[in-house]
Amino acid sequence: GIYLDYNASSPIDERVLETMVDVYRNKYGNSDSRTHEYGDEARKIVEAARTSVASVLEINKNEVFFTSGATESNNMVIQGLREYGMENGKKHIITTAIEHKAVLESVKSMSRYGFEVEIVDPDKSGRVSSEDVISRVCDDTLLVCVMHVNNETGIIQPIKEIGDFLAEKEAFFHVDATQSFGKLVDELREVKYDTLAMSAHKIYGPQGIGALILRKKHYKLPPIKNLMFGGQQERGLRPGTVPIALVAGLGKASELSVLECDDLKKHNKECKTIILKLLDESGLRYGLNGNQEYCVDSTLSLYIEGVSSEALMLATKQFCGISNGAACNSNSYKLSYVLEAMGLDADTIESTIRISWGRNTELKELEESFNALLQVAKELV
Ligand code: PLP
Repeated sequence: GIYLDYNASSPIDERVLETMVDVYRNKYGNSDSRTHEYGDEARKIVEAARTSVASVLEINKNEVFFTSGATESNNMVIQGLREYGMENGKKHIITTAIEHKAVLESVKSMSRYGFEVEIVDPDKSGRVSSEDVISRVCDDTLLVCVMHVNNETGIIQPIKEIGDFLAEKEAFFHVDATQSFGKLVDELREVKYDTLAMSAHKIYGPQGIGALILRKKHYKLPPIKNLMFGGQQERGLRPGTVPIALVAGLGKASELSVLECDDLKKHNKECKTIILKLLDESGLRYGLNGNQEYCVDSTLSLYIEGVSSEALMLATKQFCGISNGAACNSNSYKLSYVLEAMGLDADTIESTIRISWGRNTELKELEESFNALLQVAKELV
């Protein structure tokens, strides 16, 4: 079968795996051990990986903190600013209706502590408007959370404009860059965010590792409190033994992402062209969700009229790994809240599938498999 769910998780790169196996096999020190060379060696691995992650964003390595992934990084920012917000009378948070649950649920939980939460809707284009976000910022605003690329639609959000505005303000700007880190490399380097979240497994790295980026604002690091208590790892912000093989994998995946960014973009575009051509030739009535002008090359959110995504996924399960939204949300009887927020009607949402591809997607196999999927769809209309 063909795997077309790269936005949920991507296959690990062989070179990343080799790096990790070498560490697992030969480097078994604890990076916090200071009394022997095994610790020194482990520490070197961790610091080299920190540099690799920082290079993707062209930031300082001391701004990189290792975490278990984007869910943890997002929560560390949102929950970690709670004390500061309460002590300083900044109890207003702005986010968007299309964030991943790791942001949306975390922000919503802040209302239990008396925070006022404002959730900005996108329009049919799948984008929130930067003016809509900016106009809500006031003196009490603690935090603004806007993702870079939406995981369900692939639509790029106007974080550059929002970041430029917030750079002069006291409010912190958090970007969930899980779907863009190492992919929209130049674009992300231009953005003035204060905090950023990423996960290695979206860029051909291992699951269970990611990073939180903290940038200095007005010469200070954001006043984030640690959520867990323990040792001084990651400067006390994220205590617990650093998993050096995972960290090494993240470092390697980060390096490769930059080196191969342009080639991958080209490849992904070719894949998209094939899919769109097959759709056009199929004679099926289909549509694409979101304004495609703002869509990344590796994702399509599409619906085939009269074909439910449930039926299509079930009928193609043996040979096609597609989804109808975020994996964490694929209790698939529920309609996608992202597509609902865009104002799409229930029929469209029920017919929508998400396909996402990447480095290992072979053009010929894609053509055959997607064609087979379309044949199945024709029978389901
Ligand atoms: N944010 C976005 C936009 C995502 O696509 C994901 C992926 O599932 C996450 C956050 C959560 O990442 P993880 O499950 O690795 O913590």
